[in-house]
Amino acid sequence: MRRLPAAFLALVAAALLMGSTGMTSADEWAAPRRQMVAEIRAMMAEAAVETRRETLSERVAAAMERVPRHEFVPMARRHAAYDNRPLPIGHGQTISQPFIVALMTDLLELTPEARVLEVGTGSGYQAAVLSLLAKEVYSIEIVRPLGEEAARTLARLGYANVTTRIGDGYGGWPEAAPFDGIIVTAAAGHVPPALIAQLRPGGRLVIPVGDFSQELMAIEKKADGTLRERRIVPVAFVPFTREDERK
Ligand code: SAH
Repeated sequence: MRRLPAAFLALVAAALLMGSTGMTSADEWAAPRRQMVAEIRAMMAEAAVETRRETLSERVAAAMERVPRHEFVPMARRHAAYDNRPLPIGHGQTISQPFIVALMTDLLELTPEARVLEVGTGSGYQAAVLSLLAKEVYSIEIVRPLGEEAARTLARLGYANVTTRIGDGYGGWPEAAPFDGIIVTAAAGHVPPALIAQLRPGGRLVIPVGDFSQELMAIEKKADGTLRERRIVPVAFVPFTREDERK
């Protein structure tokens, strides 16, 4: 038998190794991810009048260029992971549209020292984005299998500053309060009072509000404790559920 050149054999070995570990070339997703961020920037500019935000902040853009969204969607949806749209993640829930993730994250105006609460962990994607922008992230999910899967994904990818919990986020997370930012990723009929209470003066709460037609609200707690509320844009989120409704 003719001997194969060593370089060829090395290539075959490398290909086999990559196949067996599920590893991909440097990052085959980097280009689609950059494209996704470019689309978000364009959408941000188009919606500037409504949102009163001219551009996406560079910190948020950089975080979204890093987080591997494809790791947070079911295998069968991976091909669409960087499309600028929501995707089903099972249990009737969805991972939010990347533009909405960017907008909500931007509205929180996080500093690297911030402590953030997320209500509605879902896939864990939003928590991963937050983890790159804040010091500590606390995320609570009411659907146990979703919350557990998200916790595993976050741990596997090394997002060590995210703490997750299973439960009803209506009452917030009193032990970890106060928060500089609170983000709710399911739409509630009203703003849960505990979330306002757990906001630090100067902190911001971003939440979709409404039963049928929903609006994204940004609520700022000023230094003197008074609230400033702004309606940002109409949105379509999965409903906020309560523990007692699920029995
Ligand atoms: N942030 C998520 C999006 C999840 S969709 C992501 O990045 O993938 C909203 C999630 O909120 C769903 O998983 C839903 O189960 C959860 N949810 C709804 N009501 C809740 C509640 N009261 N407390 C905690 N989580 C809730």
